[in-house]
Amino acid sequence: MQVLAVTPEIFPLVKTGGLADVAGALPLALGRQGVATRTLVPGYPAVLKSFGKKKPLAQFAALQGGKASVFSAEVGGLDLLVLDAPHLFDRPGGPYANAAGMDWPDNWRRFAALSRAGADIAAGAIQGYTPDVVHAHDWQAAMTLAYMRYGAAVGVPSVITVHNLAFQGQFGAGIFGELGLPAPAMGLDGVEYYGGVGYLKAGLHSAWAITTVSPTYAQEIRTPQFGMGLDGLLNARASDIHGIVNGIDVDIWNPETDVHLDAAYSQRSLKSGRRTNKRTVERRFGFQHDDSPILCAVTRLTWQKGIDLLVETLDGVVAAGARLAVLGAGDAALEGALLAGAARHRGRAGIVIGYDEKLSHLMQGGCDAILVPSRFEPCGLTQLYGLRYGCVPVVARTGGLADTVIDANEAALSAGVATGFQFEPANAGSFLHGVRRTVDGYADVAAWTSIQRQGMKSDVSWDRSARKYVELYRSLLSRRPG
Ligand code: ADP
Repeated sequence: MQVLAVTPEIFPLVKTGGLADVAGALPLALGRQGVATRTLVPGYPAVLKSFGKKKPLAQFAALQGGKASVFSAEVGGLDLLVLDAPHLFDRPGGPYANAAGMDWPDNWRRFAALSRAGADIAAGAIQGYTPDVVHAHDWQAAMTLAYMRYGAAVGVPSVITVHNLAFQGQFGAGIFGELGLPAPAMGLDGVEYYGGVGYLKAGLHSAWAITTVSPTYAQEIRTPQFGMGLDGLLNARASDIHGIVNGIDVDIWNPETDVHLDAAYSQRSLKSGRRTNKRTVERRFGFQHDDSPILCAVTRLTWQKGIDLLVETLDGVVAAGARLAVLGAGDAALEGALLAGAARHRGRAGIVIGYDEKLSHLMQGGCDAILVPSRFEPCGLTQLYGLRYGCVPVVARTGGLADTVIDANEAALSAGVATGFQFEPANAGSFLHGVRRTVDGYADVAAWTSIQRQGMKSDVSWDRSARKYVELYRSLLSRRPG
């Protein structure tokens, strides 16, 4: 089976969030199951720099205002198709915004072009290549499915994956004339969305199947609370929506071989290895040394992630007997409030502002628990790393957090299946209650060790998820006309 993936980001070349990890890891896991994926990505400077100019496989005389071509390249086992369209993608700054953080004003044009190229490839623009299934990621690639539906590739099965419904790609109606779609497409049944053009909406409407990155989020997005205005459409397509949790790279995130840890460890050497790493965490955050648990968070500092709850409860967390270590960057007000909290509780609370991959590994390997108080969380990765490292996840019961962590209630504890702590709703009172349960749990050494070991046994690899994608692709293939 041949899959054409279309994505605006892919690890290790371009990453702003979890989407890049999925786009980079899923093809490798699918490959192990006999499914070949080619991935169409924009030719940003970081991508072009990795490969230089290559012989084009397909050319476009006029793609959203300029010449463009597609060439093939390989990185880390990934089979890429790079859309070389210098007028759209070869510019300094981020994939979606300039260096000052302002969205590129022509984003509608840039991602219409990516999608158009994807649909043309699906329809045979590359000689000798005909994908069986097209898989688009997020709003930036969503229009691929609209172009397919109104063009020659209408019979090719298609999937859209929603990594975060909060990002939808909505633009004014004025752009419609430049999209190259037939007039009927500007309807409720096509790309029209609240009087303008909605890229994600168009993709959700046009795709044969919709996936999102956890079963619980797949349910939640059908409610007004989480649906971000699209719950009506998602309910209408309920039978085509599938929730498949993300995996993690279990080679990069492996406590037995992790070079970022002071002491690598296995389930057997969990205690001694983690003790060594905890001392390093203490030094790094300027903590006094004692026997209390260190709770941590590694996160974007935003409202979605519930960081305001962390700010609100910081005094209570320390009063409960825990120490708090935060690594993150984001909203200036939240950064300031956490810095002020750390100053109030010097030696018991600390924050490192910034993005630090190495420190994030050390924290998973040395802190006792990882806090994830998100208001909504399509899947979440840090709780999965926590499971693998014996850093017990303490999570809001929402989205992927609800699906991946088993709460340490009495029944789960006595059955020996608990892997962490859940709380709901995502408010300060429930969160603090969850923290107190965690501190009490930590004091019960036998129960705590069982929670850690059980978490380390959880299957957080990509292989299980990839099997579910393969099943989905197969079911779509069986629905092909003729
Ligand atoms: P989201 O994609 O919504 O930000 P996820 O939990 O899915 O949330 O993924 C976040 C990823 O970014 C994880 O790999 C996490 O470890 C990493 N991360 C977030 N903030 C930092 C930081 N300040 N330093 C290092 N890694 C971070």
